[in-house]
Amino acid sequence: MAIELTDPQREDLRALARRATARARDVLRARIVLAAADGMANTTIAGRLGVHVDTVRTWRRRFVQHGPAGLADRPRSDRPCRYGPAARLKVVATVTGQVPQPDSQWTHRGPCQDRDVLRSVEVTTVLVLPSSSHNLHWRGRLELSLDCFICQRTGRTTTFVVGADRAVCSGDDKFDQHYSAGRIAAFDHREERDQTSLRAVVDYWWAPFHDAKRNEPGVALTRAPWVRLHLGYYCPKTEKPGEFHTQTNLVRPSSGSCRHCSAPVMVSQEVPQLRLLVGR
Ligand SMILES: [Zn+2]
Ligand SMILES: [Zn+2]
Repeated sequence: MAIELTDPQREDLRALARRATARARDVLRARIVLAAADGMANTTIAGRLGVHVDTVRTWRRRFVQHGPAGLADRPRSDRPCRYGPAARLKVVATVTGQVPQPDSQWTHRGPCQDRDVLRSVEVTTVLVLPSSSHNLHWRGRLELSLDCFICQRTGRTTTFVVGADRAVCSGDDKFDQHYSAGRIAAFDHREERDQTSLRAVVDYWWAPFHDAKRNEPGVALTRAPWVRLHLGYYCPKTEKPGEFHTQTNLVRPSSGSCRHCSAPVMVSQEVPQLRLLVGR
């Protein structure tokens, strides 16, 4: 790939290469292009400038393809993304406007690099089932406290439903309840004779922000994470359904009994565990 420079381009590159305040890497790129334009081979340039020949190839190709603009730094994919108002608006628009498709869109594509945006929390808990059989079962719904970057408040109750493409944030007195980008990615439960266990994974979009009311920064999993899990049961004696919830902030062990026949239905011995799987 031969490089032909216009006179102004050559002047600019020479000026850059001489400029005392220029960054070393900009000077290097300019010198590579100037040498290439003089008809020098890549290996010769590499030897003269003391760099790897791949570096010479890269900047020669960039200049041929993009001209002087090709010598600028490209945004690096591993650079942490800064979430300015524009990025935030884009997320809000996606959340409230187009419903993101699970998997295909928002879980793998974000305004910057997906890994910067996506957070994953694992919720696990085990409930002991007393002998009375009330067919206790998990409801595909949970509430999780999250620091919401859309309404920019910490500790918002966010409701997730299995199969829904978005979650609902409780907002606050100024900022109404609103959709947020989150979903239940996994909801696996295992029923054994005397216990039932649940493992749910919740994915959500998250970006740094500052809660002006509480004067504290938002964190990826809120400071005092809290979850509420829902269960249903069926009373065999009265043939009526009932429901329960279990949550993090209860004194353990906590138990629940049937509202129809008062038989014990479940005992929660340990607090549900919350663990951030992805993101910091
Ligand atoms: Zn919110
Ligand atoms: Zn009952």
